[in-house]
Amino acid sequence: MSLVFAPPAAVTVPCAGGGEFPVHRIYCVGRNYAEHAIEMGGSGREPPFFFMKPADAVVPVAEGATGVIDYPTLTSNLHHEIELVVAIGRGGSGIRAADAAAHIWGYAVGLDMTRRDLQNEMKKQGRPWSIGKAFEQSAPIGPIVPIARCGELLHGAISVTVNGAARQKGDLKDLVWSVNETIEQLSAAWTLQPGDLIYTGTPAGVGAVVRGDVMEGAIEGLGTLKVAVR
Ligand code: MN
Repeated sequence: MSLVFAPPAAVTVPCAGGGEFPVHRIYCVGRNYAEHAIEMGGSGREPPFFFMKPADAVVPVAEGATGVIDYPTLTSNLHHEIELVVAIGRGGSGIRAADAAAHIWGYAVGLDMTRRDLQNEMKKQGRPWSIGKAFEQSAPIGPIVPIARCGELLHGAISVTVNGAARQKGDLKDLVWSVNETIEQLSAAWTLQPGDLIYTGTPAGVGAVVRGDVMEGAIEGLGTLKVAVR
């Protein structure tokens, strides 16, 4: 085979304990904590819905490091959304919630960065959200912790601070659709593949960041994710 130009480098995320996780796709769940759904104008009790980001939106941040993202173009309202990220190690379609844990390779702390002004405008017009969600560097992520090391994460504090001040705070037990239910719903619509990442939704308290801000996310059992905006 003769490629007409060099293919892009594989997108990978470092794993706690060694190795790199090759990223296939990034799925994201909307409005998956009741209080956040309400702050976004919903009822808090809706069926799950999904959107995607390109794999190369990932910004991997090594343990103890501070990642850097550039303030994106076209927005004046860049929001942080702290999220539990599920890393799929075994693919499949039609996976039942009861069997879903066997498909999980590990978990990470992630940020679903959002151009909220553009997302809101698209919502208003009934158009796709891509410009608000699926831009470069919109998916910072910390090291992936193997489920073999941390066990199944069913509860635990999730939070993010900006410049040390509390912003979002929640608990994984308050997910409207649990990780296992999310895998069931997702795999009914798409065939999951090893390397897929699922951003599982964000708790209440989303807000804006500006250049110079430093976000620090944390999930009990996974550690922290520190990202500066330049
Ligand atoms: Mn989100």
